[in-house]
Amino acid sequence: MTSPVVDVQHVEERPGWSCRARGRPWPCDSARKDLAAAMSPTALRKQMWTRLEVAAQDMPDGPPSELFVRFLRWTG
Ligand SMILES: [Zn+2]
Repeated sequence: MTSPVVDVQHVEERPGWSCRARGRPWPCDSARKDLAAAMSPTALRKQMWTRLEVAAQDMPDGPPSELFVRFLRWTG
């Protein structure tokens, strides 16, 4: 298994899950583009599911549907 190559500037800052580059909610547009370019759609969805689970633990008060849209809807 190869590790994804992701622009290090657009990584998530836990536990708030904001982008380190701009402080916007992660994954920001640049992070999404980098992630999508770095791996197959299947690997991308798996990766985002994993992060969604972690984010849900970090932010238990947020509505789950919002996290789903933010982490997974865009992966297609
Ligand atoms: Zn970013």
